[in-house]
Amino acid sequence: MAERLQKFLARAGIASRRKAEEYIAQGRVQVDGRPVAQMGLTIDPERQQVTFDGQPVLPPSRKLTVLLNKPAGYVTTMADPQGRPIVTSLINEPGLRLFPVGRLDLDTEGALLLTNDGELAQNILHPSRQINRTYHATVKGRPNREALQQLRRGIMLEGRRTWPARIRELRRNQESTTLEVIIHEGRKRQVRKMFAAINHPVLQLKRVAYGGLRLGSLPTGRYRRLSPEDLQLLF
Ligand code: URA
Repeated sequence: MAERLQKFLARAGIASRRKAEEYIAQGRVQVDGRPVAQMGLTIDPERQQVTFDGQPVLPPSRKLTVLLNKPAGYVTTMADPQGRPIVTSLINEPGLRLFPVGRLDLDTEGALLLTNDGELAQNILHPSRQINRTYHATVKGRPNREALQQLRRGIMLEGRRTWPARIRELRRNQESTTLEVIIHEGRKRQVRKMFAAINHPVLQLKRVAYGGLRLGSLPTGRYRRLSPEDLQLLF
């Protein structure tokens, strides 16, 4: 059946639809041996041969989404010019090419979804979905009530107000406080920037849940395959 090229690439697990459009624009995608110049081209995957960076693109045999407990020190890109370890090296699913849904900083640990389902990834990341991300943030010192209230209400970060956050204190010691922080945005380094803005820098950050999907007892560096019922907990 005919479909738009970027949709086919997303379905095949190459990248999200938007990213696939970038790859097309960069001339990395060929159809029947010819680079594609036209955006929105319709193809018939049964009859036409699509390649990405010279490699044939096949529709996925099955869709798979996993929840990884990302260790600190791993990058969430598909490759790293600096040679740091990449999260996909922790996934062992022969024949399937999973990519991370969104990102976590190099130093952030915890819940990261990876999938070969481009449509699902796009759906999860769409801001209108407002999926909660729950973090445990250990910050320097102990933020006072007023500072936490500011973060709860929303603060200006790079010219844009953050959405209200839910924050509660979990534990503290002489030097630091660990807080549960729930936000539904995925702005770059958002939690770190929020606490830097109130002068309580983040010392350690872990995402413990994505929507209703919790890490639970999943060990660091391990992942579990998600069932359709698990995926429903996301929305
Ligand atoms: N906020 C951050 O600051 N870092 C992350 O990795 C995720 C959310």
